[in-house]
Amino acid sequence: MAAVHTVSTTADADGTSKTNPAPFHLRYPKRMERRNVGILGATGMVGQRFIQLLADHPWFNITWLAASDRSAGKTYADACAWKLDTPLPAHIAQMVVQPNTPELAQTELPRIIFAALDADIARELEPKFAAAGCAVISNSSAFRMTADVPLVIPEVNADHLALLETQGTRKTSGGYIVTNPNCSAIGLVLALKPLDDAFGIDKLFVTTMQAISGAGYPGVASLDILGNVVPFIKNEEEKMQEEVNKLLGTLTPTAITPHEAKVSAHCNRVAVIDGHTECVSLKLRKPATYEQILKVWEEFQPLHGKGLDGLHLPSAPLFPVEYAPEVARPQPRLDLMRGNGMATTTGRLRPCSLFDWKFTLLSHNTIRGAAGAAILNAEILAVLGKFDFRAFPPMHAAKELVTA
Ligand code: NAP
Repeated sequence: MAAVHTVSTTADADGTSKTNPAPFHLRYPKRMERRNVGILGATGMVGQRFIQLLADHPWFNITWLAASDRSAGKTYADACAWKLDTPLPAHIAQMVVQPNTPELAQTELPRIIFAALDADIARELEPKFAAAGCAVISNSSAFRMTADVPLVIPEVNADHLALLETQGTRKTSGGYIVTNPNCSAIGLVLALKPLDDAFGIDKLFVTTMQAISGAGYPGVASLDILGNVVPFIKNEEEKMQEEVNKLLGTLTPTAITPHEAKVSAHCNRVAVIDGHTECVSLKLRKPATYEQILKVWEEFQPLHGKGLDGLHLPSAPLFPVEYAPEVARPQPRLDLMRGNGMATTTGRLRPCSLFDWKFTLLSHNTIRGAAGAAILNAEILAVLGKFDFRAFPPMHAAKELVTA
C-alpha cells in the first residue's frame, strides 16, 4: 500500500509538519513586493475570513474595506458582527468602511480587490471595479461561467488564467475579474484532478453535507437547521455540475472547452458550523487499484513539486489532498484545519458496487472554499506579474466603460 499522510501535530526542527505547515513567515522568504488590497463585502462571513487570513499575509496589506450602504461610514468594529475564533485585529477594527463604488474611492482605491458579495450585487459592482482598473478576485458565482473569466484553482488549472488577457477591461483600464469555485466544487475538484490526470474521469455521483457558514451570516434560521437536515441549497447542484467541468476543462485561445464527465450532485445543509463533507462515487476511464489512487493523491503537489515549482505561494498547502486512513475519517471536528484549512481530506476509499470507487472528502468552506482560495489565486497572479499595472485610468473613462 502506498504511504499515506496521517494526522500529525509533530513539528520538524524548522517548525513544519506535513499536515500543519509552519506559519507563512517561517516557510517563505518575504521577497515579493507588498501590495495594498481592498475587500468588497468585508463585513460578511467570507469578508471576515479575508481579514483573518490577510492580517499577517507577507505579500498583501489591507488598506480599504467596503460593504453595503448600511455599513459605509461606520468603523469596521461597529459595522461587523465578528464571528471568527481569533480576535478582530485592532488596526482593522478602527478602519472606516468605505462606499462601495470605485468613483467615490478616488485615490485611496487599491488595485487589488477581493470581493465577497452575493451574486446579484457582484454582477453589478465587480465590472465597475474591473473597469476602473482593479484586479477583482471574486468569490461569487456571478461570472464564474462567463467565457472570458477564469475560474481557477492554482493546483488544478492555473493555465486558465490566460483568459483574463481577453477581457475587454484588461485592454482598456488593465482591470479584470478572476473567480474561484463554489465552496463544494473546490474540495471535490482537488481530489478529482490527480485521478483525472492518471485514469480519466467518466462520471461521478456526489452527495454533500454542507456547513451552515456556507449560507453567510446570519444564514439559516436556527429553528430550521438545529437537529435537522435541509435537502435543498438553491442553485448549488447546478453550480457543482457545471463548475467541475469548467475547472477540469481545456484552455483554448478564448474560452474553456469543458471536460465531458457526467456529474450528478445532491446538496444538503447540515448542522455543522464549518466544513463541507462530500460522499463521492466515481467511474474512471481506466482501471485503478486502491494503491494507485492513494499514490496519485499523495504525489499531487503541482505547486511544490514539478511544473510550478519555485513559486512559493504562501497559502498553498504542501499536500493539497491528504488521505486519512482511519476507519471513520474525515470528520469536520478532526480534519478541517489540515494544511491550514487549505487541504482537502479524503478517506474511506473503497470499491463501489455501482461505479468503480467511492470515498468521502472534507474541505473548509470559508477558507479553501472561499477567502483562502481567492488569496491563493491572488498569490499566483502576483507571481505571474498580473498585478504590474500601469497608472490608474481616469475615473470618467472607467464610468464610460461600465455604461457602454
Ligand atoms: P454574507 O455573510 O451575507 O456577507 C455579504 C456581504 O456583502 C456583507 O459584507 C454585506 O455588507 C455586503 N453587501 C450586502 N449588500 C451589499 C451591497 N448592496 N453593496 C455592497 N456590499 C453589500 O455572505 P458570505 O457568506 O460572506 O458570501 C459572500 C459571497 O461569497 C457570496 O457570493 C457567496 O455565495 C460566496 N461564497 C460564500 C461561501 C461561504 O462558505 N460562506 C463560500 C464560497 C463562496 P453589510 O454587512 O453592510 O450588509
